[in-house]
Amino acid sequence: MISPSSDLQAQWARVREMLRAEFGDTAFGTWLKPLEVSRLEGDRVVMTVPTQFMRDWIVAHYGDRIRSMWAGVNPAVRSIALSVRPPEARTPPAPAADAARPAVSAVASAGCEPGEVAPEFEDMGARLDPRFTFDSFVVGKPNEFAVAAAEKVAASPSPPFNPLFLYGGVGLGKTHLMHAIGWRIREVTPGRRVVYLSAEKFMYQFVRALRRKDTMSFKELFRSVDVLMVDDVQFISGKESTQEEFFHTFNALVDRGRQIVISADRSPADLSGLEERIRSRLGWGLVADIHPTTYELRLGILQTKAEKLGVEVPVRVMEFLAARITSNVRELEGALNRIVHHASFSGRPISIDTAREVLKDLLRAHDRRVTIEEIQRAVVEHYGIRMADMSSSRRARAVARPRQVAMYLAKQLTTRSLPEIGKRFGNRDHTTVMHAIRQIERLCEEDRSLAEDVEVLRRRLQS
Ligand code: ADP
Ligand code: MG
Repeated sequence: MISPSSDLQAQWARVREMLRAEFGDTAFGTWLKPLEVSRLEGDRVVMTVPTQFMRDWIVAHYGDRIRSMWAGVNPAVRSIALSVRPPEARTPPAPAADAARPAVSAVASAGCEPGEVAPEFEDMGARLDPRFTFDSFVVGKPNEFAVAAAEKVAASPSPPFNPLFLYGGVGLGKTHLMHAIGWRIREVTPGRRVVYLSAEKFMYQFVRALRRKDTMSFKELFRSVDVLMVDDVQFISGKESTQEEFFHTFNALVDRGRQIVISADRSPADLSGLEERIRSRLGWGLVADIHPTTYELRLGILQTKAEKLGVEVPVRVMEFLAARITSNVRELEGALNRIVHHASFSGRPISIDTAREVLKDLLRAHDRRVTIEEIQRAVVEHYGIRMADMSSSRRARAVARPRQVAMYLAKQLTTRSLPEIGKRFGNRDHTTVMHAIRQIERLCEEDRSLAEDVEVLRRRLQS
């Protein structure tokens, strides 16, 4: 059924209110307000936006919510489409009074004390989070290379490599490391002007400058920075002017010998939303990836955080968390905080049982019951060996190592005892299982590819 367009406008007004309530005035004003509804085509609502990059941004960040809100106010709606409005249909530019006020004033940091940041720089960048320093970052195999690179950048008066490109999955410490670089530079060379900001904020400022017809001071301001760090550049996508501007800024800074640090959730080569020349340029410096955490690193992080919180958390509880919450460090931290808060409110001691109870929802997501047989099957498949090798007495490394990996995972992912596990692996003794677990723990410390195998298997089994 096709609603008359006045109905559609009324429905849109309700969706807009919901969007504003959910995302807040700032995000709404920047990204969602410019949306206009155009028509309903069958079960699809067509909306329009002023630019391509706004379109991409809105689709990536708000698309799902917009769609479900629409479906909420009009059950006939199943999907949404965003198209770019032709220029003549665009809303008129901001009133002259607004346009006359520069978005960002020209550089005027002369009166600044060393170590202090000129207000303009505070304004264009984001504040550094005091919790995110090198001291509070726990180093392990998966991130040691990235940490070394970050420390090198922070310590070098001129760029040792440009850009430093940090990449890795969500919640693995990219933002933390960038802030750590910022703090370290402020400490050792307070005169250098460091600006850290998200790619979102970079785009926002550029768009604002465009709107106010003041891109000159935008350019000057950004190009006067000594160290520019742009977080999450996967969001600078779309073919439009921002990407171009980002690239010009980037090149201008590199030409002047200023340091650039970039982060993204994927490697430069995989940044499909970026133009080829930009993509390849981003890879010219040092590309440092942060690998998914290993069990050992997660345990180390938990120990450090618990110490910082000043709470005694039983080792068994930490092992339980490290084994169960494998997705990312943010979630791990959140889990620990919840357990600690719960203990202080309820007055009950921290135990695996209370942890299970407090983290019920979180664990449910991770907590698929895994059987020993599933583990064996996954390991067999991963290493290309035979199921019979799991219980055979063959000691050749090619089968013995995977067998040990399977035993290790069985201990970690199931509640079976060592003798029970031994029995399922060709009636082995529990001391053999114990040895296998120790062996894998030790090897994971020094053998990154084994550690990754284990992690991949763990993920697969828990997903
Ligand atoms: P990303 O930017 O890669 O998504 P963040 O830097 O925001 O991840 O990290 C998420 C949270 O996890 C932050 O609170 C951060 O302090 C913490 N964190 C991540 N890695 C580590 C680590 N190796 N040691 C200590 N804390 C970490
Ligand atoms: Mg981040």
